[in-house]
Amino acid sequence: MTTFPNLTSKEAREALGRGVVMILPIGSTEAHGPHLPLATDVIISEEMSRRAAEKLNAQGIETLVLPAVTYSVTDFSADFPGTISIKKGTAVALIYDICRSLSEQGARLVAIANSHLEPEHVASINEAIERVRQETGKVVAFPDKRKRRWAETLTQEFKRGDCHAGSYETSLVMAARPDLVREDIRLSLERVPISIAEKIKEGARTFTEAGGSDAYFGDPRAASPEEGEATFEALSDMIVTAVLEALEEHSQG
Ligand SMILES: [Zn+2]
Repeated sequence: MTTFPNLTSKEAREALGRGVVMILPIGSTEAHGPHLPLATDVIISEEMSRRAAEKLNAQGIETLVLPAVTYSVTDFSADFPGTISIKKGTAVALIYDICRSLSEQGARLVAIANSHLEPEHVASINEAIERVRQETGKVVAFPDKRKRRWAETLTQEFKRGDCHAGSYETSLVMAARPDLVREDIRLSLERVPISIAEKIKEGARTFTEAGGSDAYFGDPRAASPEEGEATFEALSDMIVTAVLEALEEHSQG
């Protein structure tokens, strides 16, 4: 069993006592083109967490997956129906409170598996874990996949930055939850060769401003479950590496 919420309270106490590692999946509820569900980032984060936990458990590092954070700062897609955006302060408080509560119960290490890349959202994660570090002395492992070290292990489309609901994310949902991909619509979508990452640097504040009038960028038609499988391997390895490094740091510090 690798999910925390399925434990009983007594089992959770025992797991915490054994020094279990916990992975917190963080996603969003936001528009992902006409072909992917609002929960796309949650699906991706939960699946990469599940696979990372399997790998860590196989190495003898007991790991459990926490219930996901499913609401985040999603101002870029706020003008598309279905997107639910929370304020940055709310996001920081939510992530901080989860980590603090676990820390108070003696959690050995929490690692964050995030797949929503809006800058204000990633900033909310970094602020929360900095607060955790200052107030509890605990490290929260967080591999930020926008950083070159991790981005290098991902696909060309991801590295180009035209990666919202394009081939990168569509492939991941095809691998994890193919039943949720609107396949007929996906196959009808034209490529949107716009780097959302570049547009953000140039000052765009919404997907519409960035030229993504259908809430997607990149090439959904080029997606495949095989690409999704390969990317999940890289994403779960990223979490495994970050956990091993944090445990190492812990044992030295
Ligand atoms: Zn996404």
